[in-house]
Amino acid sequence: MKLKDFPEDIREYIIPDQQGKLVYRCLGCGAEHDIKKLLYTCPDCNKVLLIYDNRFDRLKRLSGEQWQRILDYRKMLTIPALKGIYRFHEFIGPIIPLDSIIYLGEGHTPIVEANEFLQEKVGVKFYYKNDGQNPSASFKDRGMASALSYINSLIRKGLSSDILAICASTGDTSASAALYASYLTPHIKSAVLLPHKKVTPQQLSQPLGSGASVFEIPGVFDDCMKVVEALSEKYNVALLNSKNAWRILGQESYSYEIAQDFEYDMANKVIVLPIGNAGNITAVMNGFLKFYETGIIKTLPKIIGVQSHHANPVFQYYSEPDAKKREFKPVTVKPSVAQAAMIGNPVSMPRVIHLTNQYNELAGENRVNFVEVTEQEIIDWELLANRNGHIACTQGGESLAGLVAAQRSGVIDKEDIAIVDSTAHALKFSGFQDMYFSDKLSPEFGINPDPAMMNKPILVHPQNLEHIPEHGKPLKGKDFTTFVNRISEEIASMLNLKKADIE
Ligand SMILES: *Cc1c(COP(=O)(O)O)cnc(C)c1O
Ligand SMILES: [Zn+2]
Repeated sequence: MKLKDFPEDIREYIIPDQQGKLVYRCLGCGAEHDIKKLLYTCPDCNKVLLIYDNRFDRLKRLSGEQWQRILDYRKMLTIPALKGIYRFHEFIGPIIPLDSIIYLGEGHTPIVEANEFLQEKVGVKFYYKNDGQNPSASFKDRGMASALSYINSLIRKGLSSDILAICASTGDTSASAALYASYLTPHIKSAVLLPHKKVTPQQLSQPLGSGASVFEIPGVFDDCMKVVEALSEKYNVALLNSKNAWRILGQESYSYEIAQDFEYDMANKVIVLPIGNAGNITAVMNGFLKFYETGIIKTLPKIIGVQSHHANPVFQYYSEPDAKKREFKPVTVKPSVAQAAMIGNPVSMPRVIHLTNQYNELAGENRVNFVEVTEQEIIDWELLANRNGHIACTQGGESLAGLVAAQRSGVIDKEDIAIVDSTAHALKFSGFQDMYFSDKLSPEFGINPDPAMMNKPILVHPQNLEHIPEHGKPLKGKDFTTFVNRISEEIASMLNLKKADIE
């Protein structure tokens, strides 16, 4: 729709201006730092940062209802820069000029209601929000669109050039970073560090295909992260891990989209998501907080962060009920089918602690909860979801298992409606499904495949069939008719098919 056709009362707000005053704020010492530099930790105390808008209060000049109208109408714009996460420009990156925004089709992922069978099994009304339907097939694209749009704005202003973007990854960060960086060729090159044999072949193929330098490092993600941190401290590189606060801003769009898709009614809503490095749960909390502060939503939804018992440092921290006695201890991870969340020392832990306090205080009760699930539960729920029309990844299975666990522990009310995050596409993690179906998961996972859930291809090759098609030698005539008839009879008999009445 053309700008002149929007209602007059909101027309001036439909295309956002460049505004706001963003700063990095340290969660350790509270110091604020200039946004014009690429900073990952506080130069004064080395703690993690979050980006705040010191002119955020200007957004309160409009009512929540006016904002709802603006954001809803904005959907009708055809400007590419505003078709992705930057529909929420004022909340995500108000200082970024529209011509610096990189849009590769990220965001606005579908919210799919579970069928009756699955809802009954789970015992809660729920939807999957499929973040696997992003360009590189995971939610990481939301954060990369933000980080790379910001870097692009620096390049365009001549403040930065010849950038080497680096990240450590459990697979999806590198796929996304390499994709978005490749869009900015020749200004940016990317290098990714992966734990050797701890990412799936699909995830490995992604940065290779995007032309990144790919380094495989012995150890697990936490080891790669330390190497990347050392590189970013000593050398001139752009760090694209979620330690980079720009990633968090972009990932807040997940919350904004949920609010918009439920017509801003967050009463009785529960958001369930897996926790790895804890960037995503940071962003999801921050997103809802911003919409709440501007009156766009009137209720803060419940949030449930889920961890596998094989990588559960956040769950362990919160399992101490007395806040004063809580003490964060990194854990040594064990193999997890939710491999993208297999992290023992989450970088965003201080952000989680800070925002969870703020969230619960504002809500007036405990609305952020943490649950733990087993490897068996993760994969069983993933497989069951996918047998009911979803395309959930193993981390999506972890989310669903977490919803079940939360319900068991009494966190879910009868009238609650859950939005469950499938953080990536099922295909990226299909290797775990293969291992389950062929009972080849190593004993460390602690998973016993349920024969009823296994599925295998059946090779159809009737014994007394003399001629079969071979490469470059198709069957003809009577041989071909015999082949088609025999094979179809075999399939019909295996499927117990009844003959159709043909007149
Ligand atoms: C990165 C990732 C996670 C973990 O998200 P964090 O922000 O690190 O907590 C979960 N699932 C998938 C598919 C991921 O790629
Ligand atoms: Zn500091």
